Amino acid sequence: MIYVKLEGHDYKYQVEDVIRMFFYNEDIIYADTSPINFGGIFILSRVEEGEKIYIELWREGLKAYYAESKLGVICDDGNEHIKSHRYKKKIKMELKRQLYLAFEFITGKSMPWGILTGIRPAKIVHEMLDMKFSRNFISEKLKNYYMVKEEKAGVLLEVAGKERSILNATPPDAVSIYIGIPFCTTRCLYCSFTSNPIDRSSDIVKNYIDALLYEMEKTAAIIADKGWSVQSIYIGGGTPTSIDEESLKKLLFGVESTFRMDGLQEFTLEAGRPDSLNVEKLGIIKSSRVDRISINPQSMNDEVLEAIGRNHTAKDIEWAFMKARETGFDNINMDIIAGLPGETLSMFKASLERITQLSPDSLTVHTLSFKRGSKLIEDKNNRTCIDNRCIEDMAGVAADYASTMNMKPYYLYRQKNILGNLENIGYSTKGHESIYNIQIMEEKQPIIAMGAGAVTKMVFPEENRIERVFNVKSVTEYINRTDEMIARKESIIFG
Ligand code: SF4
Repeated sequence: MIYVKLEGHDYKYQVEDVIRMFFYNEDIIYADTSPINFGGIFILSRVEEGEKIYIELWREGLKAYYAESKLGVICDDGNEHIKSHRYKKKIKMELKRQLYLAFEFITGKSMPWGILTGIRPAKIVHEMLDMKFSRNFISEKLKNYYMVKEEKAGVLLEVAGKERSILNATPPDAVSIYIGIPFCTTRCLYCSFTSNPIDRSSDIVKNYIDALLYEMEKTAAIIADKGWSVQSIYIGGGTPTSIDEESLKKLLFGVESTFRMDGLQEFTLEAGRPDSLNVEKLGIIKSSRVDRISINPQSMNDEVLEAIGRNHTAKDIEWAFMKARETGFDNINMDIIAGLPGETLSMFKASLERITQLSPDSLTVHTLSFKRGSKLIEDKNNRTCIDNRCIEDMAGVAADYASTMNMKPYYLYRQKNILGNLENIGYSTKGHESIYNIQIMEEKQPIIAMGAGAVTKMVFPEENRIERVFNVKSVTEYINRTDEMIARKESIIFG
Protein backbone atom coordinates (compact mmCIF):
# COMPACT_ATOMS: atom_id res chain seq x y z
CA MET A 1 0.00 0.00 0.00
CA ILE A 2 1.37 3.44 -0.94
CA TYR A 3 -0.24 6.49 0.64
CA VAL A 4 -0.16 9.77 -1.24
CA LYS A 5 -1.03 13.28 -0.20
CA LEU A 6 -1.12 16.03 -2.83
CA GLU A 7 -0.95 19.69 -1.87
CA GLY A 8 -1.35 22.57 -4.31
CA HIS A 9 -1.88 20.34 -7.35
CA ASP A 10 -3.88 17.45 -8.70
CA TYR A 11 -1.32 15.73 -10.95
CA LYS A 12 -2.37 12.23 -9.92
CA TYR A 13 -1.59 10.77 -13.33
CA GLN A 14 2.07 11.83 -13.18
CA VAL A 15 2.46 10.76 -9.55
CA GLU A 16 0.94 7.33 -10.20
CA ASP A 17 3.04 6.88 -13.33
CA VAL A 18 6.22 7.13 -11.28
CA ILE A 19 4.91 5.02 -8.37
CA ARG A 20 3.95 2.24 -10.82
CA MET A 21 7.52 2.09 -12.14
CA PHE A 22 8.82 1.11 -8.74
CA PHE A 23 5.81 -0.56 -7.11
CA TYR A 24 3.77 -2.18 -9.86
CA ASN A 25 1.45 -4.26 -7.72
CA GLU A 26 0.87 -1.88 -4.82
CA ASP A 27 -2.45 -0.15 -4.27
CA ILE A 28 -2.29 3.64 -4.17
CA ILE A 29 -4.41 5.37 -1.53
CA TYR A 30 -4.89 9.14 -1.39
CA ALA A 31 -4.81 10.41 2.18
CA ASP A 32 -5.47 13.83 3.64
CA THR A 33 -3.77 13.59 6.97
CA SER A 34 -0.33 13.56 8.60
CA PRO A 35 2.16 10.90 7.42
CA ILE A 36 3.01 10.17 11.07
CA ASN A 37 -0.20 8.19 11.37
CA PHE A 38 0.61 5.72 8.58
CA GLY A 39 2.70 2.58 8.31
CA GLY A 40 4.33 1.69 4.98
CA ILE A 41 5.27 4.35 2.46
CA PHE A 42 3.69 7.79 2.49
CA ILE A 43 4.45 10.42 -0.15
CA LEU A 44 3.72 14.06 0.39
CA SER A 45 4.02 16.17 -2.73
CA ARG A 46 3.46 19.91 -2.66
CA VAL A 47 3.54 22.36 -5.55
CA GLU A 48 3.72 26.10 -5.00
CA GLU A 49 3.05 27.42 -8.48
CA GLY A 50 5.67 29.85 -9.68
CA GLU A 51 7.84 28.79 -6.75
CA LYS A 52 8.84 25.32 -5.69
CA ILE A 53 8.06 21.61 -5.64
CA TYR A 54 8.51 19.77 -2.35
CA ILE A 55 8.69 16.01 -1.95
CA GLU A 56 8.68 14.18 1.36
CA LEU A 57 8.84 10.43 1.61
CA TRP A 58 7.89 8.83 4.90
CA ARG A 59 8.42 5.23 5.89
CA GLU A 60 6.70 3.65 8.90
CA GLY A 61 5.83 7.11 10.22
CA LEU A 62 9.39 8.48 9.91
CA LYS A 63 10.65 10.94 7.32
CA ALA A 64 13.10 9.07 5.03
CA TYR A 65 13.64 11.59 2.23
CA TYR A 66 13.10 15.28 1.56
CA ALA A 67 13.77 17.39 -1.53
CA GLU A 68 12.72 20.73 -2.91
CA SER A 69 13.16 22.05 -6.40
CA LYS A 70 12.81 25.61 -7.64
CA LEU A 71 10.57 26.23 -10.64
CA GLY A 72 12.02 28.81 -13.00
CA VAL A 73 9.68 31.16 -14.88
CA ILE A 74 9.68 30.10 -18.51
CA CYS A 75 7.26 32.63 -19.96
CA ASP A 76 7.84 36.35 -19.66
CA ASP A 77 4.19 37.39 -19.58
CA GLY A 78 3.83 38.15 -15.89
CA ASN A 79 1.56 35.90 -13.86
CA GLU A 80 0.05 34.43 -17.02
CA HIS A 81 2.97 32.02 -17.17
CA ILE A 82 1.36 30.04 -14.37
CA LYS A 83 -1.59 29.18 -16.59
CA SER A 84 0.40 28.43 -19.72
CA HIS A 85 0.53 24.95 -21.17
CA ARG A 86 4.32 24.95 -21.30
CA TYR A 87 4.58 25.97 -17.68
CA LYS A 88 2.18 23.23 -16.56
CA LYS A 89 4.17 20.73 -18.60
CA LYS A 90 7.33 21.85 -16.84
CA ILE A 91 5.74 21.46 -13.41
CA LYS A 92 4.55 17.94 -14.26
CA MET A 93 7.96 16.91 -15.55
CA GLU A 94 9.76 18.37 -12.53
CA LEU A 95 7.30 16.64 -10.22
CA LYS A 96 8.05 13.33 -11.93
CA ARG A 97 11.78 13.97 -11.66
CA GLN A 98 11.64 14.71 -7.96
CA LEU A 99 9.45 11.71 -7.24
CA TYR A 100 11.69 9.47 -9.33
CA LEU A 101 14.76 10.64 -7.39
CA ALA A 102 12.98 9.95 -4.11
CA PHE A 103 12.10 6.38 -5.12
CA GLU A 104 15.52 5.80 -6.58
CA PHE A 105 16.97 6.86 -3.23
CA ILE A 106 14.85 4.59 -1.08
CA THR A 107 14.78 1.52 -3.36
CA GLY A 108 18.30 1.72 -4.80
CA LYS A 109 16.79 0.98 -8.22
CA SER A 110 16.91 3.05 -11.40
CA MET A 111 14.75 2.61 -14.48
CA PRO A 112 16.04 2.16 -18.04
CA TRP A 113 13.88 4.97 -19.40
CA GLY A 114 14.14 7.26 -16.36
CA ILE A 115 11.09 9.51 -16.15
CA LEU A 116 10.02 8.93 -19.75
CA THR A 117 6.75 7.10 -19.30
CA GLY A 118 5.11 7.95 -22.64
CA ILE A 119 4.47 5.47 -25.43
CA ARG A 120 6.61 7.30 -28.00
CA PRO A 121 9.91 8.40 -26.43
CA ALA A 122 11.46 9.17 -29.84
CA LYS A 123 9.08 12.15 -30.15
CA ILE A 124 11.13 14.10 -27.60
CA VAL A 125 14.25 13.51 -29.68
CA HIS A 126 12.45 14.62 -32.87
CA GLU A 127 11.30 17.81 -31.12
CA MET A 128 14.88 18.60 -30.08
CA LEU A 129 16.26 17.73 -33.53
CA ASP A 130 13.62 20.06 -35.06
CA MET A 131 14.94 22.80 -32.76
CA LYS A 132 18.41 22.11 -34.23
CA PHE A 133 19.96 20.87 -31.00
CA SER A 134 23.08 18.77 -31.53
CA ARG A 135 23.02 15.00 -30.97
CA ASN A 136 25.45 15.49 -28.15
CA PHE A 137 23.21 18.00 -26.40
CA ILE A 138 20.18 15.71 -26.85
CA SER A 139 22.06 12.73 -25.48
CA GLU A 140 23.10 14.71 -22.38
CA LYS A 141 19.57 16.01 -21.88
CA LEU A 142 18.14 12.49 -22.11
CA LYS A 143 20.62 11.18 -19.57
CA ASN A 144 20.78 14.08 -17.11
CA TYR A 145 17.31 15.58 -17.21
CA TYR A 146 15.08 12.64 -18.19
CA MET A 147 17.44 10.18 -16.44
CA VAL A 148 17.42 7.74 -19.36
CA LYS A 149 20.21 5.15 -19.24
CA GLU A 150 23.09 5.76 -21.63
CA GLU A 151 22.36 2.69 -23.74
CA LYS A 152 18.69 3.64 -24.18
CA ALA A 153 19.61 7.24 -25.04
CA GLY A 154 21.90 5.86 -27.78
CA VAL A 155 19.15 3.59 -29.17
CA LEU A 156 16.66 6.46 -29.14
CA LEU A 157 18.97 8.72 -31.12
CA GLU A 158 19.67 5.93 -33.61
CA VAL A 159 15.94 5.21 -34.03
CA ALA A 160 15.08 8.89 -34.45
CA GLY A 161 17.78 9.25 -37.11
CA LYS A 162 16.47 6.25 -39.05
CA GLU A 163 12.88 7.45 -38.73
CA ARG A 164 13.77 10.90 -40.00
CA SER A 165 15.22 9.52 -43.21
CA ILE A 166 11.78 7.99 -43.94
CA LEU A 167 9.64 10.80 -42.50
CA ASN A 168 11.54 13.47 -44.42
CA ALA A 169 11.08 11.58 -47.69
CA THR A 170 7.29 11.25 -47.19
CA PRO A 171 5.23 13.31 -49.67
CA PRO A 172 3.14 15.97 -47.87
CA ASP A 173 -0.17 14.62 -49.18
CA ALA A 174 0.55 10.99 -48.22
CA VAL A 175 -1.58 8.92 -45.84
CA SER A 176 -1.39 5.33 -44.67
CA ILE A 177 -4.21 2.82 -44.53
CA TYR A 178 -5.02 0.25 -41.87
CA ILE A 179 -7.47 -2.60 -42.46
CA GLY A 180 -8.52 -4.78 -39.54
CA ILE A 181 -9.44 -8.45 -39.79
CA PRO A 182 -10.67 -9.35 -36.30
CA PHE A 183 -10.32 -13.12 -36.51
CA CYS A 184 -7.65 -15.47 -35.26
CA THR A 185 -7.08 -19.19 -34.92
CA THR A 186 -6.94 -19.22 -31.09
CA ARG A 187 -6.56 -16.46 -28.51
CA CYS A 188 -3.12 -15.85 -27.03
CA LEU A 189 -2.81 -15.35 -23.29
CA TYR A 190 -1.53 -11.76 -23.65
CA CYS A 191 -3.83 -10.68 -26.50
CA SER A 192 -5.85 -7.49 -26.10
CA PHE A 193 -6.71 -7.02 -29.79
CA THR A 194 -10.11 -7.31 -31.39
CA SER A 195 -9.84 -10.97 -32.27
CA ASN A 196 -12.56 -13.63 -32.57
CA PRO A 197 -11.82 -17.37 -32.89
CA ILE A 198 -12.22 -18.21 -36.56
CA ASP A 199 -13.77 -21.65 -35.95
CA ARG A 200 -16.73 -19.96 -34.25
CA SER A 201 -16.93 -17.09 -36.75
CA SER A 202 -16.60 -18.74 -40.17
CA ASP A 203 -20.28 -18.15 -41.06
CA ILE A 204 -19.90 -14.40 -40.52
CA VAL A 205 -16.61 -13.89 -42.41
CA LYS A 206 -18.25 -13.47 -45.82
CA ASN A 207 -20.60 -10.75 -44.52
CA TYR A 208 -17.71 -9.09 -42.74
CA ILE A 209 -15.57 -8.95 -45.89
CA ASP A 210 -18.54 -7.55 -47.86
CA ALA A 211 -19.07 -4.82 -45.26
CA LEU A 212 -15.34 -4.09 -45.25
CA LEU A 213 -15.20 -3.80 -49.05
CA TYR A 214 -18.10 -1.36 -48.84
CA GLU A 215 -16.30 0.74 -46.20
CA MET A 216 -13.12 0.60 -48.33
CA GLU A 217 -14.96 1.82 -51.43
CA LYS A 218 -16.51 4.80 -49.59
CA THR A 219 -13.22 5.60 -47.84
CA ALA A 220 -11.29 5.49 -51.12
CA ALA A 221 -13.69 8.16 -52.43
CA ILE A 222 -12.97 10.34 -49.37
CA ILE A 223 -9.21 9.90 -49.89
CA ALA A 224 -9.57 10.82 -53.58
CA ASP A 225 -11.66 13.89 -52.65
CA LYS A 226 -8.89 15.07 -50.33
CA GLY A 227 -6.29 14.54 -53.06
CA TRP A 228 -4.28 12.24 -50.80
CA SER A 229 -1.94 9.52 -52.01
CA VAL A 230 -1.57 6.19 -50.21
CA GLN A 231 1.98 5.63 -48.97
CA SER A 232 1.54 2.37 -47.05
CA ILE A 233 -1.15 -0.21 -46.37
CA TYR A 234 -1.24 -2.50 -43.35
CA ILE A 235 -3.68 -5.37 -42.97
CA GLY A 236 -3.66 -6.54 -39.36
CA GLY A 237 -6.10 -7.76 -36.79
CA GLY A 238 -6.42 -10.50 -35.49
CA THR A 239 -4.60 -12.58 -38.02
CA PRO A 240 -5.88 -11.79 -41.53
CA THR A 241 -4.65 -15.12 -42.93
CA SER A 242 -7.02 -16.99 -40.61
CA ILE A 243 -9.89 -16.31 -43.04
CA ASP A 244 -10.60 -18.82 -45.84
CA GLU A 245 -8.82 -18.67 -49.21
CA GLU A 246 -11.76 -17.23 -51.13
CA SER A 247 -12.28 -14.41 -48.61
CA LEU A 248 -8.57 -13.65 -48.51
CA LYS A 249 -8.46 -13.36 -52.30
CA LYS A 250 -11.54 -11.13 -52.32
CA LEU A 251 -10.00 -8.90 -49.65
CA LEU A 252 -6.56 -8.50 -51.23
CA PHE A 253 -7.80 -7.87 -54.75
CA GLY A 254 -10.57 -5.67 -53.35
CA VAL A 255 -7.89 -3.43 -51.78
CA GLU A 256 -5.99 -3.19 -55.05
CA SER A 257 -9.01 -2.37 -57.16
CA THR A 258 -10.39 0.17 -54.67
CA PHE A 259 -7.46 2.39 -53.68
CA ARG A 260 -5.15 4.27 -55.99
CA MET A 261 -1.86 2.41 -55.75
CA ASP A 262 0.45 4.67 -57.79
CA GLY A 263 2.11 6.24 -54.70
CA LEU A 264 2.21 2.99 -52.71
CA GLN A 265 5.60 2.21 -51.15
CA GLU A 266 4.71 -0.69 -48.84
CA PHE A 267 1.88 -3.20 -48.42
CA THR A 268 2.05 -5.36 -45.30
CA LEU A 269 -0.11 -8.35 -44.42
CA GLU A 270 0.05 -9.93 -40.98
CA ALA A 271 0.39 -13.67 -41.46
CA GLY A 272 1.43 -14.07 -37.84
CA ARG A 273 0.11 -17.51 -37.03
CA PRO A 274 1.54 -20.47 -38.94
CA ASP A 275 -1.66 -22.39 -38.12
CA SER A 276 -3.47 -19.87 -40.34
CA LEU A 277 -1.26 -20.47 -43.40
CA ASN A 278 -1.09 -23.00 -46.22
CA VAL A 279 0.53 -23.16 -49.64
CA GLU A 280 -2.60 -21.90 -51.40
CA LYS A 281 -2.89 -18.82 -49.17
CA LEU A 282 0.79 -17.99 -49.62
CA GLY A 283 0.24 -18.19 -53.39
CA ILE A 284 -2.79 -15.85 -53.18
CA ILE A 285 -0.82 -13.32 -51.13
CA LYS A 286 2.15 -13.49 -53.49
CA SER A 287 -0.01 -12.83 -56.52
CA SER A 288 -1.38 -9.66 -54.86
CA ARG A 289 0.45 -6.36 -54.27
CA VAL A 290 1.48 -7.41 -50.73
CA ASP A 291 5.26 -7.03 -50.43
CA ARG A 292 5.84 -7.47 -46.71
CA ILE A 293 4.50 -10.18 -44.41
CA SER A 294 4.93 -10.98 -40.77
CA ILE A 295 5.27 -14.53 -39.45
CA ASN A 296 5.41 -14.28 -35.69
CA PRO A 297 6.82 -17.02 -33.53
CA GLN A 298 6.75 -15.07 -30.20
CA SER A 299 8.72 -18.08 -28.90
CA MET A 300 10.38 -21.09 -30.52
CA ASN A 301 9.79 -23.31 -27.47
CA ASP A 302 6.86 -25.68 -27.81
CA GLU A 303 5.97 -25.72 -24.11
CA VAL A 304 5.87 -21.90 -24.04
CA LEU A 305 3.77 -21.80 -27.21
CA GLU A 306 1.32 -24.17 -25.58
CA ALA A 307 1.28 -22.19 -22.32
CA ILE A 308 0.41 -18.96 -24.12
CA GLY A 309 -2.46 -20.58 -26.02
CA ARG A 310 -0.96 -20.94 -29.50
CA ASN A 311 -2.17 -23.90 -31.42
CA HIS A 312 1.09 -24.70 -33.22
CA THR A 313 4.69 -25.78 -32.69
CA ALA A 314 8.05 -24.18 -33.47
CA LYS A 315 8.40 -26.58 -36.40
CA ASP A 316 5.17 -25.16 -37.87
CA ILE A 317 6.75 -21.70 -37.73
CA GLU A 318 9.84 -22.95 -39.55
CA TRP A 319 7.64 -24.62 -42.17
CA ALA A 320 5.61 -21.43 -42.74
CA PHE A 321 8.71 -19.27 -42.96
CA MET A 322 10.51 -21.54 -45.43
CA LYS A 323 7.38 -21.95 -47.58
CA ALA A 324 7.00 -18.15 -47.65
CA ARG A 325 10.60 -17.79 -48.81
CA GLU A 326 10.05 -20.50 -51.46
CA THR A 327 6.95 -18.63 -52.63
CA GLY A 328 9.14 -15.59 -53.20
CA PHE A 329 8.63 -13.30 -50.20
CA ASP A 330 11.78 -11.26 -49.68
CA ASN A 331 10.58 -9.03 -46.85
CA ILE A 332 9.51 -11.13 -43.88
CA ASN A 333 9.26 -9.81 -40.33
CA MET A 334 9.24 -11.98 -37.23
CA ASP A 335 7.98 -10.98 -33.76
CA ILE A 336 9.28 -12.37 -30.49
CA ILE A 337 8.24 -11.60 -26.91
CA ALA A 338 10.67 -11.37 -23.98
CA GLY A 339 9.26 -12.43 -20.62
CA LEU A 340 6.65 -15.00 -21.63
CA PRO A 341 5.51 -17.18 -18.73
CA GLY A 342 7.78 -20.20 -18.33
CA GLU A 343 10.49 -18.95 -20.70
CA THR A 344 13.95 -18.68 -19.12
CA LEU A 345 16.87 -16.68 -20.49
CA SER A 346 18.45 -19.79 -22.03
CA MET A 347 15.13 -20.77 -23.66
CA PHE A 348 14.80 -17.22 -25.01
CA LYS A 349 18.32 -17.49 -26.45
CA ALA A 350 17.39 -20.82 -28.05
CA SER A 351 14.37 -19.11 -29.70
CA LEU A 352 16.62 -16.40 -31.10
CA GLU A 353 19.10 -18.98 -32.31
CA ARG A 354 16.43 -20.74 -34.38
CA ILE A 355 15.11 -17.41 -35.68
CA THR A 356 18.63 -16.40 -36.70
CA GLN A 357 18.93 -19.60 -38.73
CA LEU A 358 15.79 -18.60 -40.62
CA SER A 359 17.24 -15.12 -41.24
CA PRO A 360 14.18 -12.86 -41.39
CA ASP A 361 14.48 -9.35 -42.86
CA SER A 362 13.28 -7.66 -39.69
CA LEU A 363 12.71 -8.68 -36.10
CA THR A 364 10.39 -6.98 -33.63
CA VAL A 365 11.29 -7.67 -30.02
CA HIS A 366 8.39 -7.08 -27.67
CA THR A 367 8.60 -7.10 -23.90
CA LEU A 368 5.60 -8.75 -22.28
CA SER A 369 3.04 -6.23 -21.09
CA PHE A 370 -0.11 -6.76 -19.08
CA LYS A 371 -2.93 -5.29 -21.12
CA ARG A 372 -6.52 -4.71 -20.20
CA GLY A 373 -8.72 -7.25 -21.93
CA SER A 374 -6.06 -9.96 -21.98
CA LYS A 375 -6.34 -13.28 -20.12
CA LEU A 376 -2.87 -12.61 -18.70
CA ILE A 377 -3.99 -9.67 -16.59
CA GLU A 378 -6.78 -11.70 -15.04
CA ASP A 379 -4.25 -14.04 -13.50
CA LYS A 380 -2.30 -12.02 -10.94
CA ASN A 381 0.19 -14.86 -10.42
CA ASN A 382 1.43 -14.42 -13.96
CA ARG A 383 2.47 -10.85 -13.23
CA THR A 384 5.65 -11.76 -11.43
CA CYS A 385 6.81 -14.41 -13.85
CA ILE A 386 10.22 -12.83 -14.29
CA ASP A 387 12.47 -10.31 -12.54
CA ASN A 388 13.76 -7.02 -13.95
CA ARG A 389 17.36 -8.22 -14.24
CA CYS A 390 16.38 -11.22 -16.32
CA ILE A 391 14.12 -9.23 -18.65
CA GLU A 392 16.91 -6.69 -19.23
CA ASP A 393 19.26 -9.55 -20.07
CA MET A 394 16.71 -10.89 -22.56
CA ALA A 395 16.43 -7.49 -24.24
CA GLY A 396 20.24 -7.31 -24.42
CA VAL A 397 20.50 -10.81 -25.92
CA ALA A 398 17.84 -9.95 -28.52
CA ALA A 399 19.79 -6.81 -29.49
CA ASP A 400 22.93 -8.95 -29.93
CA TYR A 401 21.15 -11.49 -32.13
CA ALA A 402 19.62 -8.66 -34.20
CA SER A 403 23.10 -7.29 -34.70
CA THR A 404 24.42 -10.68 -35.85
CA MET A 405 21.60 -10.65 -38.44
CA ASN A 406 22.89 -7.22 -39.63
CA MET A 407 19.85 -5.46 -38.25
CA LYS A 408 19.65 -2.03 -36.69
CA PRO A 409 16.90 -0.55 -34.49
CA TYR A 410 14.47 1.56 -36.52
CA TYR A 411 11.33 2.06 -34.42
CA LEU A 412 10.49 1.84 -30.79
CA TYR A 413 7.54 2.22 -28.49
CA ARG A 414 6.66 1.60 -24.90
CA GLN A 415 3.53 0.35 -23.21
CA LYS A 416 1.94 0.64 -19.81
CA ASN A 417 2.57 -2.27 -17.44
CA ILE A 418 5.49 -3.55 -19.47
CA LEU A 419 7.95 -5.89 -17.72
CA GLY A 420 11.08 -4.18 -16.43
CA ASN A 421 9.78 -0.81 -17.69
CA LEU A 422 11.40 -1.72 -20.99
CA GLU A 423 10.22 -1.23 -24.57
CA ASN A 424 9.20 -2.87 -27.84
CA ILE A 425 11.78 -2.37 -30.51
CA GLY A 426 11.86 -3.07 -34.23
CA TYR A 427 15.17 -4.12 -35.81
CA SER A 428 15.62 -4.32 -39.53
CA THR A 429 18.18 -5.08 -42.21
CA LYS A 430 18.94 -2.13 -44.49
CA GLY A 431 15.98 -1.16 -46.67
CA HIS A 432 13.44 -3.37 -44.85
CA GLU A 433 12.33 -0.81 -42.26
CA SER A 434 8.53 -0.72 -42.17
CA ILE A 435 7.19 2.67 -43.28
CA TYR A 436 3.82 1.97 -41.67
CA ASN A 437 5.39 1.19 -38.26
CA ILE A 438 7.28 4.47 -38.32
CA GLN A 439 4.25 6.49 -39.43
CA ILE A 440 1.96 5.01 -36.78
CA MET A 441 4.54 5.72 -34.08
CA GLU A 442 5.60 9.21 -34.99
CA GLU A 443 2.11 10.52 -35.86
CA LYS A 444 3.16 12.77 -38.72
CA GLN A 445 0.51 11.66 -41.21
CA PRO A 446 -3.17 10.56 -41.08
CA ILE A 447 -3.82 6.85 -40.70
CA ILE A 448 -7.15 6.00 -42.28
CA ALA A 449 -8.53 2.83 -40.77
CA MET A 450 -11.26 0.40 -41.75
CA GLY A 451 -12.83 -2.66 -40.15
CA ALA A 452 -14.11 -3.64 -36.71
CA GLY A 453 -12.05 -2.10 -33.92
CA ALA A 454 -10.00 0.02 -36.34
CA VAL A 455 -8.97 3.52 -35.26
CA THR A 456 -8.55 6.38 -37.73
CA LYS A 457 -6.06 9.02 -36.66
CA MET A 458 -6.02 12.54 -38.04
CA VAL A 459 -3.02 14.76 -37.37
CA PHE A 460 -3.18 18.54 -37.37
CA PRO A 461 0.49 19.55 -37.10
CA GLU A 462 -0.17 23.29 -37.25
CA GLU A 463 -2.37 22.97 -34.14
CA ASN A 464 -0.19 20.28 -32.54
CA ARG A 465 -3.33 18.17 -32.29
CA ILE A 466 -4.35 14.58 -33.01
CA GLU A 467 -7.90 13.29 -33.27
CA ARG A 468 -9.01 9.71 -33.34
CA VAL A 469 -12.22 8.14 -34.55
CA PHE A 470 -13.10 4.63 -33.45
CA ASN A 471 -14.94 1.92 -35.34
CA VAL A 472 -17.06 -0.40 -33.20
CA LYS A 473 -15.26 -3.54 -32.05
CA SER A 474 -18.06 -6.07 -32.39
CA VAL A 475 -18.14 -7.78 -35.79
CA THR A 476 -21.96 -7.93 -35.97
CA GLU A 477 -22.29 -4.30 -34.86
CA TYR A 478 -19.76 -3.33 -37.50
CA ILE A 479 -21.67 -5.15 -40.25
CA ASN A 480 -24.94 -3.53 -39.17
CA ARG A 481 -23.49 -0.03 -38.74
CA THR A 482 -20.93 0.28 -41.56
CA ASP A 483 -22.51 3.50 -42.88
CA GLU A 484 -22.16 5.05 -39.44
CA MET A 485 -18.43 4.13 -39.38
CA ILE A 486 -18.00 5.81 -42.77
CA ALA A 487 -19.88 8.93 -41.64
CA ARG A 488 -17.72 9.20 -38.49
CA LYS A 489 -14.59 9.08 -40.61
CA GLU A 490 -15.96 11.56 -43.09
CA SER A 491 -16.84 14.00 -40.36
CA ILE A 492 -13.36 13.99 -38.80
CA ILE A 493 -11.58 14.12 -42.19
CA PHE A 494 -13.66 16.98 -43.56
CA GLY A 495 -13.83 18.68 -40.17
S1 SF4 B 1 -2.04 -13.97 -32.85
FE1 SF4 B 1 -2.17 -11.81 -32.33
S2 SF4 B 1 -4.30 -11.25 -32.72
FE2 SF4 B 1 -4.21 -13.49 -32.66
S3 SF4 B 1 -4.75 -13.98 -30.56
FE3 SF4 B 1 -2.51 -13.89 -30.67
S4 SF4 B 1 -1.99 -11.78 -30.12
FE4 SF4 B 1 -4.17 -11.83 -30.58
